[in-house]
Amino acid sequence: MANELFKLLPKIDELFKRQDISHAIEKCGKEPVKEVLNDALSKVRELVKSGEIDTEDNLRVKCEELISESLRGLNEDEGSLKRVINATGVVLHTNLGRAPMPRRLVERLTNNLRGYMNLEYNIEKGARGERYEHIEEIICKVTGAEAAFAVNNNAAAVMLMCAALGTRKEIIVSRGEQIEIGGKFRIPDIIKRSNAKMVEVGATNKTHIRDYEEAISDKTAAILKVHTSNYRIVGFTDSVERDELVSLAHAHGIPVIEDLGSGVLIDLSRYGLRKEPTVMDSLKAGVDLVSFSGDKLLGGTQAGIIVGKKELIEKCKKHPLTRAFRIDKMQALLIGEIFKMYEDPVYAVKNIPVLRMLTEDAAAVWSRAEKLCLMIEGIKEKGVNLDIIETDNYAGGGSLPEEKLKGVAIRLSDKVPANVHAENLRKIKTPLIVRVEDNAVIIELRTIDDEELKTVADIINKEFA
Ligand SMILES: *Cc1c(COP(=O)(O)O)cnc(C)c1O
Repeated sequence: MANELFKLLPKIDELFKRQDISHAIEKCGKEPVKEVLNDALSKVRELVKSGEIDTEDNLRVKCEELISESLRGLNEDEGSLKRVINATGVVLHTNLGRAPMPRRLVERLTNNLRGYMNLEYNIEKGARGERYEHIEEIICKVTGAEAAFAVNNNAAAVMLMCAALGTRKEIIVSRGEQIEIGGKFRIPDIIKRSNAKMVEVGATNKTHIRDYEEAISDKTAAILKVHTSNYRIVGFTDSVERDELVSLAHAHGIPVIEDLGSGVLIDLSRYGLRKEPTVMDSLKAGVDLVSFSGDKLLGGTQAGIIVGKKELIEKCKKHPLTRAFRIDKMQALLIGEIFKMYEDPVYAVKNIPVLRMLTEDAAAVWSRAEKLCLMIEGIKEKGVNLDIIETDNYAGGGSLPEEKLKGVAIRLSDKVPANVHAENLRKIKTPLIVRVEDNAVIIELRTIDDEELKTVADIINKEFA
C-alpha cells in the first residue's frame, strides 16, 4: 500500500506549473521554493511510512496542507536579522543594534534608496562631486564646527585621526584614558596601528597638566583626549580640563584631538541626567578635532563623525584610510537627516527615540505600564501573578557611565519557569527580549514605545494563556 501511495506523490516539475507555486517562484526565486516543497514532500513520505497516511484521499489532503503551509512560511521568512522588541530597559543595547532609527530617517531611506542617488555627483555643476558635501554644511551648522566629515564608525574615526596626524610621530595620552571600547578595541592598540607612538602620561587615577607638559617634544604630533564614556574613576582623582589642555598644546603649536565617544549634542542635564560634555562644549574649549559615534546618544545610524579645524579635517580626508573607512550612501543620507533634526533641540528630544527614551520621566513610563496591564489583565485568571514594579534602567552602549534611570516594569510569574517563558518569547516572529529575575519575567516599559504596546500585549496574552 505504501508503495502505491508513494507513486501518487506529486512530482516537483508538475508542482512548478501550479499557479500559486509559479507566483511564489516569481517572488522568491526557484531554489528556495524547490527547497520548501521538497521538505513538504519528505514530510508526507514520512507520514506514509509511519502509516499515518493510509488512503489516497488522506495523501492528497495532507500534501495540499503541507504545501500551502510551506508557501506561507516562505512569505514570512525574514532571515535571521530582524526586528525585535527590547523589553530590557537598556536604551542603547549593544546586542540589539544600539539606537533604533527615528521614523523620519527610515522614511528618507525608503524614499531615496530604490533609485540612483547623486552621492558623488554635483547636480549644479553637472560634474563629479564628493559624498561628504551632502553632510558637511548641516553638521557645521548644528555643532558650530569649522569643518566636518564622517567615516564608517567612531573606532575608525579615532584610528584615522591618529594616523592622519601622528604617523611616525608621537601622540600623548593620559593613563587614565586608555580605555577598551569593547570588541578588543583599545586606545593603545589603535594608536600603535596608526603608526604613531603613544606617549603615556600621568597615573591611572591622576594626570596633571605638568605631566602633559613634560611629555611634549619636537616629535609630538598631538595630545589625544579620550572621553571615558563606559566607566568612571572615582575617589582620589584628577584630570586636566579641556581648556587648560588646549592652552598648553596650542602654546607649543600642537593640536588637541578628542574621542568623545557618544557625541551628545544636547545638554541632557536639563532633563535630570548627568552632565555629559557635548560636542559643542569640546569645540568651544578649543579642541581641534573631535570624533563621536552616530548611533549612540546621537541616535542615528552607525558612523564616526569628525568635526573641527578645516586644515586638520582636510588632512584626515586625504589619508588613504579614509577610502577604506568611507561611509556609504545610506549613512550619508541618514547622517544629514539626523543632524537636521537637531536644528530644533526640543523637536529632537521628542522625535529621536534614544533621546525620548532617556528623557521620559518615570510617571510617563508608569502610565504606559498601567496601559499594558489593562491589556493583559485576563491572564490573572490563568493563575499568572502580575504586578508593576520600580526598577533601574540604563543608558547602555558605553554612554553615561553609572547613569541609572528610574525604570518601571511589569513582573509576570506562574507555574512555568521564567526561563522557559523567556525562551519562548525569543522564538516568535517578533521576539520579545526580556529579563528574568527571581524566576519572574520582567518587561521594562522604558524601551517599549506606545506603538509596540498592542504587539507586546498580544505576545504576553498568547504566551501566558
Ligand atoms: C563607543 C566608543 C567608541 C567606538 O565607537 P563606534 O561607533 O562603536 O565605533 C570609541 N570611543 C569611545 C570613547 C566610545 O565610547
